[in-house]
Amino acid sequence: MKNMKFDLNQKNRKEVLERVIDKLECFYNNTQNFSVTPSIDVQEIKEFVNNQDLQSGGNYNAAIDHVTTGLEKYSVHTSHPKYFGLFNPRSNYAGIISDLISAYYNPQLAAWSHAPFAAEVEAKVVKEFATKFGYSSLDSDGVFATGGNEANQTAVLCALNNKYPNYARYGLFGVTKRPIIFCSEEAHHSVHKAAKTAGLGYECVISIPVDNKLKLETTLLEKEIQAVIASGQDPLMVIGTAGTTGAGTIDDLVRISKISKMYDIWFHVDAAYGGAAILSNKIKKKIKGIELSNSITFDAHKWMSIPMGASIFLTSNPYILAQTFSISTEYMPKDADGFETVDPFSHSIQWSRRFILKYPF
Ligand SMILES: *Cc1c(COP(=O)(O)O)cnc(C)c1O
Repeated sequence: MKNMKFDLNQKNRKEVLERVIDKLECFYNNTQNFSVTPSIDVQEIKEFVNNQDLQSGGNYNAAIDHVTTGLEKYSVHTSHPKYFGLFNPRSNYAGIISDLISAYYNPQLAAWSHAPFAAEVEAKVVKEFATKFGYSSLDSDGVFATGGNEANQTAVLCALNNKYPNYARYGLFGVTKRPIIFCSEEAHHSVHKAAKTAGLGYECVISIPVDNKLKLETTLLEKEIQAVIASGQDPLMVIGTAGTTGAGTIDDLVRISKISKMYDIWFHVDAAYGGAAILSNKIKKKIKGIELSNSITFDAHKWMSIPMGASIFLTSNPYILAQTFSISTEYMPKDADGFETVDPFSHSIQWSRRFILKYPF
């Protein structure tokens, strides 16, 4: 199969596919025979990558061997039974097949009219989770994201647009008081990153100490909010965590919601890790109060074992995503071509976007 053209003929495609499936099945069935962590010899890894000649082109079989060997030899095997970093589970098979199908059809999820089926599947899954989390099915909205990081960044941008109606137009140049974000000391640092990339600077994040159960100290939160107001700054949002990265603890979401309401602050729950508790009748009470939030981050690529990157951002404000992200151009169809539908690019940080097909098999 040397000097292959851009595309293969059907016979060769079948050969390649069968070869790949054999390799992948061999890995999927025998992951326990690999070492959980690779031995890291930077020089060796760089050489292994660099001895591929990008100019002459190789053949498919050699390329497949190179990639699969590289991934097998030089990766942490999160799917190994002795890997206990539960944030990164083994991909479930439905997710793997879904990714394969998505890659074949490659629907473009920027505009609804380009991929109506895919867009509607996502919209249905988003709605399903919104109602599971206790949001109203009519007055809620959401969008798939690449991960908790993007979803948390979406939350910060929504909070800014909610608080400052001219934010979409003038950005921080239209804001007179410095916006402040509150979260616990145990919150994920994507919050700081979101503050950094939103133009607020990470110094605007006030990390509230935690109690002896590693939950945000709500009395201290209220004191900090009052201090921020007294100093002429503007409390923008409070982030409660449902499943902290360090210990999996869940903040008192009901209490945080009350405080946020009292001071008219956007309440976001980062449930990237713990959100899947909502699917279990036994433990969903542990994230009680999540239904009172303005927005939620939920990572499907954690407990649900969906291949990366699959996250969902949800909000109980049905207008805020459009207010934050919609933009009108000549080269995109107008308003979902007049249908009663939503163009995903007008609700997301992303534009062209892959189908994050997550079918509940
Ligand atoms: C994993 C995680 C994130 C970051 O999400 P990514 O999917 O890695 O982008 C944010 N917050 C919490 C609580 C997490 O567990």
